[in-house]
Amino acid sequence: MRIAMIGTGYVGLITGACFARFGHRVTCVDRDGERIAALRHARVPIFEPGLTALIETNVAADRLAFSTNLEGAVAEAEAVFIAVGTPRSRIDGAADLSDLHAAAREIAAAIAHYTLVVTKSTVPVGTHREVENRMHALRPDADFDVASNPEFLREGSAVDDFTHPDRVVCGTRSARAESVLREIYRPLFLNETPMLFTTPENAELIKYATNCFLATRITFINELADLCEAVDADVQVCARSLGMDGRIGPKFLHAGPGYGGSCFPKDTRALVATARSEGVPLRVVEAVIASNDDRKRRMADKIAAALAGGVQDRTLAILGLTFKPNTDDVREAPSLDIVPRLLEMGARLRAYDPGCLDRIPELFPGVTPCKDAYSAIEGADAAVILTEWNEFRALDLHEVRRRLRTPVLVDLRDIFDPGRLAELGFEYTSVGRTARSPAGT
Ligand code: NAD
Repeated sequence: MRIAMIGTGYVGLITGACFARFGHRVTCVDRDGERIAALRHARVPIFEPGLTALIETNVAADRLAFSTNLEGAVAEAEAVFIAVGTPRSRIDGAADLSDLHAAAREIAAAIAHYTLVVTKSTVPVGTHREVENRMHALRPDADFDVASNPEFLREGSAVDDFTHPDRVVCGTRSARAESVLREIYRPLFLNETPMLFTTPENAELIKYATNCFLATRITFINELADLCEAVDADVQVCARSLGMDGRIGPKFLHAGPGYGGSCFPKDTRALVATARSEGVPLRVVEAVIASNDDRKRRMADKIAAALAGGVQDRTLAILGLTFKPNTDDVREAPSLDIVPRLLEMGARLRAYDPGCLDRIPELFPGVTPCKDAYSAIEGADAAVILTEWNEFRALDLHEVRRRLRTPVLVDLRDIFDPGRLAELGFEYTSVGRTARSPAGT
């Protein structure tokens, strides 16, 4: 199968490389010439475990190529996936579909024979029809179908998520489109991955419902963490026990500084915008958004409260800036709220993050980048964990204690055990646990 992937960001690049691994011949297209030039020189512009090797193998096997020439890639393809960004519109929080419609216009102009056009981007209900109508208006002569195939991969484990998904959701009413999608995903089908064929409306809504539900779970456990702090309970014990309940399950129940990333903040807002425009408000999701925004703003105060006398003129070592580990992505990360607020409060900040170290001066002006965690901590008044990279879990705590000027550790990801930190002489602040809330066994 020949496939064109339009948009070579996180989703397009990973999907394109994984389709090539399935044995298809894939051309990944992007309008960003620098990105394509880098990829052609085997420089992968994003940090994602396993991706570089996957790209190298498939380029060498002649199954994966990169191009800025959308027209050529589409004219040759049997299926064209649109994986461009659908960011939050500044006006009402709805998804901004301008890149998607621009891509669809170019695809329509380039279609040369029957082509399946698939929206992989996360798009509001009804977008497939809008895309189809616009493409028909531009090219009434062209032979194509438009289907929806939302993507559920997570940054940081994206290659594995794509090749071992919980399910693949395809929305189409066309039997021909269904058979093309079945052929594309055949290797997963053979592995007994559940394939859900449904209407495009369902497929589009399932993606938003999934992200909104996960954001709700995170927000629930975050609010429960605040209550735990007030009543000397331990949120980790509560979460573990909740997770043992078969009706609930353990995932997305880790308390922290609030969710971020390129998907949950924008997708919750986009679904709320759709629901409002339909006159069916989603009050739970609206509350989740408000609670999470408020939480991210409050985290700087929590950090300041951990230092006697506050953070003015104190040096803090910030460990982790990306919205989660194993990615270089800082889009809507809690650090983007916390760091500027700490600077406003008069703190001096040094930071280390293995994913976005080179971009610290550009992303966080006024913050001094450090080459590793220990040099960030050296002589600081406190260390603050904002992202739970594994290398922070493995820190030598004796060494951390020795290097800090005052032994204050603020852990917004709950990666350390409060009892052990107390034994080592730290003044330890975490989320949803107090010194008086010993963990259960
Ligand atoms: P991204 O911003 O990383 O990448 C989008 C790419 O599309 C950019 O490289 C851009 O240059 C390119 N592009 C835009 N318009 C183009 C055009 N007309 N022609 C060619 N290239 C064009 O975006 P992303 O994070 O990969 O997300 C893409 C979509 O997938 C979004 O709708 C997002 O919500 C969804 N999604 C993202 C994730 C994730 O973890 N990032 C997971 C699931 C779904």
